[in-house]
Amino acid sequence: MTRYLIDFDSTLVAAETLDVLAEIALAGAADRAARTAAIRRLTDQAMAGELPFGEALQRRLALLDARREHLPELTEQLRASLTASARRNAAWLAQPAVWIVSGGFEEVIAPVLQPLGVQPCRIQANRFVWSAKGLAVGVDPSSPLAHDGGKIAAARASSDGEEVVMVGDGWTDLEVWTSGAAARFYAYTEVVARPAVLARAERRAASLEDVLRQEGIKP
Ligand SMILES: [Mg+2]
Repeated sequence: MTRYLIDFDSTLVAAETLDVLAEIALAGAADRAARTAAIRRLTDQAMAGELPFGEALQRRLALLDARREHLPELTEQLRASLTASARRNAAWLAQPAVWIVSGGFEEVIAPVLQPLGVQPCRIQANRFVWSAKGLAVGVDPSSPLAHDGGKIAAARASSDGEEVVMVGDGWTDLEVWTSGAAARFYAYTEVVARPAVLARAERRAASLEDVLRQEGIKP
């Protein structure tokens, strides 16, 4: 058996969760443009491998002022950003061999993917830590995804002795393969093609059908 680990941001949705959350949380803030740009820069640096993921995540959250009340709007926008591949291949994504592994947030990913039939128990991601007043003040450190190398640790923990295949656009997805935690890695380009990732990947895919075809699976 093969276990397929699929990234979420810029793989199943044509967006980065924290960028969208920034647009929502900072609407009306006087320094909105500067803070949004700083958050985007940190996202790009992390996905290009120039900044450790855990550090980038905490620095972006500190810039955000995100509140629990922002989550319904965030979920709605991300649902509207589901890729054409995700919509066409919902039946495959809902299979027990497919897991979602993301540096994003379970509280957001689960409702976004629920209409596709993806079970919350097969989503490995971060969890927000909220203050008593509903402000996002950090991420739960008990999730491996909160730390550098988090996807590697999650892949090792979830593999159950099975062969692992990683699919994603970013540096942290590539690392799952270069670390040896995945047998194969598909640099996923439906949403964004990241040169630093593509330069190192052996395989690439422009759609989920492209992954299935190369894996010898009937869509
Ligand atoms: Mg991604």
